[in-house]
Amino acid sequence: MKLVTLLAVVDENKCKGCRTCERVCPVLAIKVVNRKAVVDAERCRGCANCEQRCPDYAVTMIKRDKPIQIGGDVSEVDYKEVVALCAKAKLHPEQTICYCVGTKADEIAAAIIKGARTPEEVSLVTGARTGCTIECIQPILRLLEAAGCELQPPKGGWQWYGRTVTNWELPEEVKQKHSSRGFYFDEDRKVFDELVEKGQRGGAE
Ligand code: SF4
Ligand code: SF4
Repeated sequence: MKLVTLLAVVDENKCKGCRTCERVCPVLAIKVVNRKAVVDAERCRGCANCEQRCPDYAVTMIKRDKPIQIGGDVSEVDYKEVVALCAKAKLHPEQTICYCVGTKADEIAAAIIKGARTPEEVSLVTGARTGCTIECIQPILRLLEAAGCELQPPKGGWQWYGRTVTNWELPEEVKQKHSSRGFYFDEDRKVFDELVEKGQRGGAE
């Protein structure tokens, strides 16, 4: 759960309409209209990415009059479906995915089961990826991919939705090449597989 206490506000006199803010917003809450950035207050998750990256210092974060509470509600879906989706993505349902907000894999899976089809939709509902916006994108992409979503970054954005290779997909020659340098791919994989299995058992009980 995240309590959104901040809201981005644009100073029209300083805004030059460069669209940097639009390209970095994780929930597509800020758009340039008639050469000025406009914030959708209902969508803004208060991450301050736009404020930090605006080259003209046109964005300020202000305190909201009424904070918004957001988060994936796992009680609204069949938890067995959540567990199955997490297992397909090789994640434990209770694994923390977004450390900035504290979002777990089961909350993201629940949001996807309820209809989120892009990282932006997942972020809007759960609040995940509205902190650093970097660390949690890969497991979010894995969960979306496991649910059969076809992923394309927003048009004109600077987001990159390429998925990095996981331990389960590493070619044998890569493992061989690095095994003598202190990497324990097979051992790590065994530990992860046990964790995922444990998550499946826990969800089925
Ligand atoms: S990054 Fe700043 S200057 Fe550029 S469009 Fe957004 S608010 Fe305006
Ligand atoms: S969600 Fe973040 S990047 Fe988007 S408008 Fe709000 S503060 Fe700016």
